[in-house]
Amino acid sequence: MAKKKLLLDVDEVICSSGFLSAVNDFLGTNYEIDDFSDYYIDKEAIPKKQIEKFKDFVNNRNLYENTYILPGAIEIIKKLNEVYDIYICSACVNDLNVEGSGKIFMDKYNFLIKNFSFLNPEHFIFTNIKNLFKADIQIDDRLSNLDNEIEIKILFPSYHNKNISDDELKQKGVIRAGYDWKNGWDEIEKILLK
Ligand SMILES: [Mg+2]
Repeated sequence: MAKKKLLLDVDEVICSSGFLSAVNDFLGTNYEIDDFSDYYIDKEAIPKKQIEKFKDFVNNRNLYENTYILPGAIEIIKKLNEVYDIYICSACVNDLNVEGSGKIFMDKYNFLIKNFSFLNPEHFIFTNIKNLFKADIQIDDRLSNLDNEIEIKILFPSYHNKNISDDELKQKGVIRAGYDWKNGWDEIEKILLK
């Protein structure tokens, strides 16, 4: 029997995006990810008059160089890979910096090749239009990315999605993989590898 297809997001699901360390290095702060509630932490943290300077700062940086891989991600994705046909599905175009976004495609690809060498790179989909791609299962930290037409939709817990109500998720047929990103992969294991 063919394996079920699984669309898997990268940022804030496999690893924390490098924007937190970029913000901290730029401002000289020690913010932690749970200090934020807006998905775009740079919008929340960087004063407006420093935004242009911050863009230049990020342009020259590999956001995936010192990124934090979420607890259990490698181990559990390895197990999932035995059972499911995994497709990475991840956005790489930064709306604030379209011209400089090519580097994000390259750095994300290199990060995945280095840390998830067991995944098939021919299954990497780098797109901001995720709903073009259909599968049996989708895992993403943004509710707006979860596709109605996909049977099993899993919201990965993250700093920016804590306030989404259980009722709303129930209405949309979305399963929440717990409430804390530190345990998100343990919850996914329970849901998909029972
Ligand atoms: Mg994400």
